[in-house]
Amino acid sequence: MKKLLSILALTLLLCSTIVTAQTQKDIIEAIEKEGNGNSQLEQLAYELMDLNGPRLVGTPEMKTAHDWAINTYKKWGISAENQQWGTWKGWQRGITHVDMVSPRIASLHATQLAWNPSTDNKGVTASLITLPILADSLAFVKWLPSVKGKIVMVSMLQPTGRPDENWEEYATKESFEKMKSERDSLEKIWRQNISNTGYTSRNINAAFEKAGAVGIAQSRWSEGFGANKIFSAGTEKIPAVDISLEDYGMLYRMVEHGANPQIKIVAESKDLGKVPTFNTIATIPGTEFPDEYVILSAHFDSWDGATGATDNGTGTITMLEAARILKKVYPNPKRTILIGHWGSEEQGLNGSSSFVQDHPEIVAGVQAVLNQDNGTGRVVNLSGQGFLHAYDYLGRWLEAVPEKYKNEIETTFPGSPGRGGSDYASFVAAGAPAFSLSSLSWDYWNYTWHTNLDTYDKIVFDDVRNNAILTAILTYMACEDPEKTSREKAVLGINPRSGEKGEWPTPRTPERNGGQE
Ligand SMILES: [Zn+2]
Repeated sequence: MKKLLSILALTLLLCSTIVTAQTQKDIIEAIEKEGNGNSQLEQLAYELMDLNGPRLVGTPEMKTAHDWAINTYKKWGISAENQQWGTWKGWQRGITHVDMVSPRIASLHATQLAWNPSTDNKGVTASLITLPILADSLAFVKWLPSVKGKIVMVSMLQPTGRPDENWEEYATKESFEKMKSERDSLEKIWRQNISNTGYTSRNINAAFEKAGAVGIAQSRWSEGFGANKIFSAGTEKIPAVDISLEDYGMLYRMVEHGANPQIKIVAESKDLGKVPTFNTIATIPGTEFPDEYVILSAHFDSWDGATGATDNGTGTITMLEAARILKKVYPNPKRTILIGHWGSEEQGLNGSSSFVQDHPEIVAGVQAVLNQDNGTGRVVNLSGQGFLHAYDYLGRWLEAVPEKYKNEIETTFPGSPGRGGSDYASFVAAGAPAFSLSSLSWDYWNYTWHTNLDTYDKIVFDDVRNNAILTAILTYMACEDPEKTSREKAVLGINPRSGEKGEWPTPRTPERNGGQE
């Protein structure tokens, strides 16, 4: 009888293992089927990038995007809310028009920089001035009054508008080498000259403004055809615009040749005072361990030179799509699935570090954070972020992922803890297992990261589909794992730069009142 009972128990145990394996296989197949056969990625990308537009912190477009996310989740039966974490300078971009008006007419490719105040309707028309070679800060002080009434050109003239790959393909070896060494020496001279002024490229605009300049013209080339980085202005009252490499170069040469070009800047924008800033948080409640969390993480904000398609539209739609798929095929997860769409990552992980500060109980219950934020490419790198046992659990979860979604992933264990770069670092610093689903490049750094070219057309949907399915499967496995993940930290090695023993990063203090006096 005793033997019979134990055989019965064994059979039951075997059955339940088989049932689990069967369920797991079924659910993973259902995730693939939904992700590949009923993908919503193109529609989500259209609505977020084309229709809503850029998501700079403090802008009305950031708020409409948050509301869009909530409505989108609502359609899928997922509850979501906007959680305020601070305030920011409220600002809205308007029309920018920059034209050369003398000695001939040309409309220029240029745009106002973020948070820059507007000009009046007539705009600002003025001559341009470039920086002379300055021996020291005294020489700078002596020269500075000459910017009065002028628009100051604050970027170096690039010797070429062709990216290096293009030179590599077509130039003779000698001429490519010559161009590079000329460029190196121009850059060295330029840096030395700025340093001689006693200012940095960050704070020199304010000095020009104080000395009576009426505008700032910059060109922050991103080393790719047509690509410029578009950040913030750094002036209080006068217009600051970024001009394409091509137009900036033309103007610069005209100034140097004494042709005295004049440009007209009309830049409309609205100062909207102080506005609240949010994270959008969506949840699919857990059934067995509701206080344990698998967090899908992607910052929601962007710079506003384009529409933030790969920074971080693609991370955003990856997490939205993974959540949609999971709600459909795995609606009752064992652990709570929380999707965090963070605000103001671009100014220093402000939304996610506020969340970490405001919700210690959630951080304590984190099973895993999966963050994506480096462009549209397939996930190819996964680091254990310094968590000693990350290999065990990430390894287990990855094992369940069909080959084609993971065959390019290189893992590093235990790895070292991320100190910035994206929102997983906010959680890592608090000791919560958080990981970065790191993409292959697709020329992210030169062409789309913070540039005027970060638009819908750069999204590679098949890669994003891959990532949404991968994320959904990892999330499912993390929810089902019989064990809570270990937070034990690896002993960190010696930092090669400082020569000191590596320390675990400490949580950063978020900027909760940004862009205000
Ligand atoms: Zn980003």
